[in-house]
Amino acid sequence: MPGGQYQVASIKCHHSLYSLTDSSDVGPEEEEADPPLRLTPLQKLTVDMCKDEKTIKELIIGRRVGFYKVRGEIGYGTFSRVKLAFHALTRDKVALKILDRMRLDAQAQRLLSREISSMESLQHPNVVRLYEVVETPSRLYLVLEYAGGGDLHNRICNEGKLSDSISKITFAQVLSAIKYMHNINIIHRDLKAENVLFTISGCVKVADFGFSTRVSNCNNALDTFCGSPPYAAPELFRDDCYLGPPVDIWAMGVLLFFMVTGTMPFRAETMGKLRRCIMECSYTVPPWVPGPCQRLIKGILKAAPSERYAVDQMLGCDWLLPVEFPWVLVPPEPASPPQSPGSSEPSDQEEVEEEIRGSLEELGVTVEHLRNNQLKDSRSPVTGLYRILLHRAQKRRGCDCLPVVRGMVRDPKREGLRAYRGLRHTSKFCVLS
Ligand code: ATP
Repeated sequence: MPGGQYQVASIKCHHSLYSLTDSSDVGPEEEEADPPLRLTPLQKLTVDMCKDEKTIKELIIGRRVGFYKVRGEIGYGTFSRVKLAFHALTRDKVALKILDRMRLDAQAQRLLSREISSMESLQHPNVVRLYEVVETPSRLYLVLEYAGGGDLHNRICNEGKLSDSISKITFAQVLSAIKYMHNINIIHRDLKAENVLFTISGCVKVADFGFSTRVSNCNNALDTFCGSPPYAAPELFRDDCYLGPPVDIWAMGVLLFFMVTGTMPFRAETMGKLRRCIMECSYTVPPWVPGPCQRLIKGILKAAPSERYAVDQMLGCDWLLPVEFPWVLVPPEPASPPQSPGSSEPSDQEEVEEEIRGSLEELGVTVEHLRNNQLKDSRSPVTGLYRILLHRAQKRRGCDCLPVVRGMVRDPKREGLRAYRGLRHTSKFCVLS
């Protein structure tokens, strides 16, 4: 039975994988005697998934996955397909990254579990959220925050380089995401324009954590080549091991160069020439790039990782000085930190929790469901529902607002860069030798 894992109390659906039962469950005998039920939206959905012919058919043909209704195609990756979907109860749009288990070799499986584990610990306005993981015998589905504004690579290829102000706003958000990741010892290792997504309102969302890794501290050496060659730091070609943060920072330098010029700093017809070009750190910043931005690029793109700017130097550079960040970083879910002593006002997080509890209750999620699920297991539909509502509440409080540049002037003239169009960068993974 396709929806069998989503059974709720008082509903005769067997074969439970994820039980949504609570302590008010009744046995089949008692069920016979029950008066007609007024079902909550959650109960109605789970009953439909077990008994409604149309819903079951949709589950079988892939028009539904768990609690999500699948809609149009978004795109393809090496191992994945990404589709647009929405939550059947909340109607929120999500991106469904679909992976065929048969196509995943041992290495791809390892990378996928890293992707899931990194994303589970990340909660930042500029990082794509993972709401839920749905598993079937043949497929794995990552339910992700939907970023409907396309990616930075396509934007530049279609519209040309970004204006100085838009570059500042975009780069500042990527920088904020990277600072947050590095603070919790996660290294992205595949930062590139293709992995910088936008929401419809232009908020940056760093995506694709397939090559990410968590180190016990940021001074731990790594030895796997990850990422896309045009964004790879010289030490990845030169040394047997490398430190994580400077490699992400180098990629940010390449990204910044690309944003403000519409071209890549290191270009060559062959891999060997590209490698040489990067190792010699041979690039030229066009003279029309504003001085403060030139200085930032040159501070980042330095061959020796120890001489490269650190994240905090980048945040404090002249070029980013006019940027005002509107948000406070969102605390991790789901436990509330203790309130400050003597404070009688509910904290912002307590208010958010209260709001979500109310919404969950309206949908039919009981306190007991929440107790059973702990809201930490990404493979639970209750966690998915909780995370979607949490994010919605945070967005209402402005967590997805854009930074502003004081005295911002938009650059309406954008060159088309036909030559660059279509040259998406493919990422690679191998052990350095
Ligand atoms: P590869 O796996 O080879 O690195 P990729 O990163 O492009 O390729 P995916 O992450 O599967 O592969 O993404 C495929 C397509 O879906 C891309 O065009 C990407 O921009 C889009 N996409 C991925 N995640 C989202 C999302 N959360 N919201 C909107 N679009 C997304």
